[in-house]
Amino acid sequence: MSEEGIEKLIRPNLAALGGYSAAKSPQTLAKKIGIAAEKIIKLDANENPYGCSPRVNKALASYPYLSTYPDAGQSELRELLEGYTGIDAENIVAGSGSDELIDLILRLFIKPGDEVINCPPTFDMFRFSTQIGEGTLVEVPRDEDFAVSVKAVKAAITKKTKIILLASPNNPTGTLTPRQDILEILKIGLPVVVDEAYYEFSGETVAPLVKQHPNLMVPRTFSKWAGLAGLRVGYGIFPTKIARYLMAIKPPYNVNMAALVAVRESLVDVDYLMSTVKKIIAERERLFGELKKFNWLKPFPSQANFIFASVLKGEAKELQQKLQSKGILIRYFDLPYWRDGVRISVGKPEQTDALIKALQEIGEE
Ligand SMILES: *Cc1c(COP(=O)(O)O)cnc(C)c1O
Repeated sequence: MSEEGIEKLIRPNLAALGGYSAAKSPQTLAKKIGIAAEKIIKLDANENPYGCSPRVNKALASYPYLSTYPDAGQSELRELLEGYTGIDAENIVAGSGSDELIDLILRLFIKPGDEVINCPPTFDMFRFSTQIGEGTLVEVPRDEDFAVSVKAVKAAITKKTKIILLASPNNPTGTLTPRQDILEILKIGLPVVVDEAYYEFSGETVAPLVKQHPNLMVPRTFSKWAGLAGLRVGYGIFPTKIARYLMAIKPPYNVNMAALVAVRESLVDVDYLMSTVKKIIAERERLFGELKKFNWLKPFPSQANFIFASVLKGEAKELQQKLQSKGILIRYFDLPYWRDGVRISVGKPEQTDALIKALQEIGEE
């Protein structure tokens, strides 16, 4: 059979899918822009600029069990997470990043044609995983301050609605959804995901509500606060029944051995990691103040480790390109509800200084 013949057999919705526009690695970009990879200031993927706990590097350097499969039941991992979250292990499921958990949740609930409520601008994996599963995305845009409209969510519900997806704090806007609004949305009675990837930066959580609300799911991650984005480890807090189903449908060895070791060591070193979180929060507030000084930028208050800003003069893409040519990476997305906005991850103080200097230069052009 010809290549075209094979291509015709691919599921039409997947053949038409544009893919997920992920941040480029500094190694890839270094070559393109002619700046050494170590010199690149990476403020485009909400990673922890202080890295992971040094205990993780040390433990992994001499770890003897990489040749054995991890425990499919995640017993140790779930117990460790029980210790960290205060939520029973039976209500916890871990994944290869919380991205995998979002995908598994949608697989569990969505069949082709089912409607998924999404509140853009928000985390693009919600759209991505919905479309891969042939769910129908129903967009309920956030208001001008990026708050979720509970009224509009309720109005968008149809007989086909299967699930409501929220991120709080939201990526890319940094907006927290008030607990009262989440309770209101839970009352609708459909499954509700509240993605708390940035929980450690906001300090606010609805996870304890999972006990009383059999429709609430709260994915979280070690990628952002714990500096483990490269190892891919996330977890979610789920009602017992849903947790059981997710355990049953997940790939058996979805969380690798290195990630387990990294979680173990990170949780011994929570004080250190939270000290980096504190530094990032302080720097976020300084960055916000600095960005506000530019009359052509409108930064929005953030409860996460990044700041969203509207570009009031010129195009967001142009700004992103100009910063990139100076070795500073930020994010911009050319998607509906994202027009002329940029997302800047909070870095170290010296990285903020370099960013501000570059923005001043660009503003004077
Ligand atoms: C970064 C991010 C994630 C993904 O985290 P991983 O654990 O690295 O897959 C999930 N949700 C939101 C809202 C994020 O911003």
